[in-house]
Amino acid sequence: LNRRLAEFGTTVFAEMSALAASTGSINLGQGFPDTDGPEEVREAAVRALRDGRGNQYPPGPGVPELRRAVSEHQRRRYGLAVDPDTEVLVTAGATEAIAAAMLALVEPGDEVVALEPYYDSYAACVAMAGGRRVPVTLRPHEGTFRLDLDELRDAVTDRTRLLLVNTPHNPTGTVLTREELAAVARLAVERDLLVVTDEVYEHLVFDDAEHVPLASFPGMRERTVTISSAGKTFSFTGWKVGWITGSPELVTAVRSAKQFLTYVSAGPFQYAVAEALALPDSYFDGLRAGLTAKRDLLTAGLEEAGFGVFRPSGTYFVTTDIRPLGESDGVAFCRELPKRAGVVAIPTAVFYDDREAGAPFVRFAFCKKDEVLREAATRLASLA
Ligand code: PMP
Ligand code: GLN
Repeated sequence: LNRRLAEFGTTVFAEMSALAASTGSINLGQGFPDTDGPEEVREAAVRALRDGRGNQYPPGPGVPELRRAVSEHQRRRYGLAVDPDTEVLVTAGATEAIAAAMLALVEPGDEVVALEPYYDSYAACVAMAGGRRVPVTLRPHEGTFRLDLDELRDAVTDRTRLLLVNTPHNPTGTVLTREELAAVARLAVERDLLVVTDEVYEHLVFDDAEHVPLASFPGMRERTVTISSAGKTFSFTGWKVGWITGSPELVTAVRSAKQFLTYVSAGPFQYAVAEALALPDSYFDGLRAGLTAKRDLLTAGLEEAGFGVFRPSGTYFVTTDIRPLGESDGVAFCRELPKRAGVVAIPTAVFYDDREAGAPFVRFAFCKKDEVLREAATRLASLA
């Protein structure tokens, strides 16, 4: 293994899902729903397979039906005009989009400023591109994790190439506000930075939180790569269909990298996701309502069990503070949790360069059946 990757080891998600399987624990670690997405979307995939659509290499940028559906989705939801022919690229999930964007846009030695805690593939992809990650830590403040705009501003240097943003944010559940995003956008314009914004949880926002695409702010269209994925919006994490939108120059650049990573993404699923994106608003509203109830169910259980809870405004994760339980080391706590309570969670420290800052936090996923969440809450109550 080369030096750039040596520090990363095995992804925590694989390690923790294996631990859940070997101990028979409830897996609230890795974020994947235990109920598949809509029946009609599954049927659409079957139809595409049967009809022979996408069984051979689909076009490099993605099938036209899906590119048009992504474009139409951006228009319908956000009023953004996106050219389906030049401004959309289909990827093998958001994971490939992140990798291809870093490989395409980062020069060796460039600094990439990312919000910390950060999704684990960010650090590895920046490293594979030869870049240097510069974390800006979200700090606990009044029950949520907040971005300090002064810290963000201070993190940008003459060597900064791009900002890597994630909202709604995994693992904290923070949704950046319109004002915060406007400030991020102003900074990007002022310092002439590229922005890669991971918005895979765009539809998973709760209460009065609102997802605003960073690309919608003045001066951002030409400098922003926006990433999303059918894994989150339609509960098909196994299909690995994601996409980016951005200016023709940026999309062409990312495609240059993608063509040598996977060449193209799985064909029949692209046709099915095109149909999924055209589902009526009631689908998206239902997804949110369902997850809001699950969030409330799990957060109530965690509070009851004695955890400090950061109530998420988005994603399907809740980050907790284990110090009220008399614990301080999330990694040790998560290794013991299967034995102590039959539940698996993710130590948030693995999403930090500053492991110390992340040490007391533990992430639980709530994209699970109500009875699973109730059982997990019952088991966790035994910790108190
Ligand atoms: N970005 C974030 C913030 C995520 O949480 C995930 C999924 N866990 C991904 C990217 C990867 O998405 P995909 O499964 O579509 O590759
Ligand atoms: N994004 C999911 C999570 O944060 C898992 C993705 C993965 O396993 N790579 O849990």
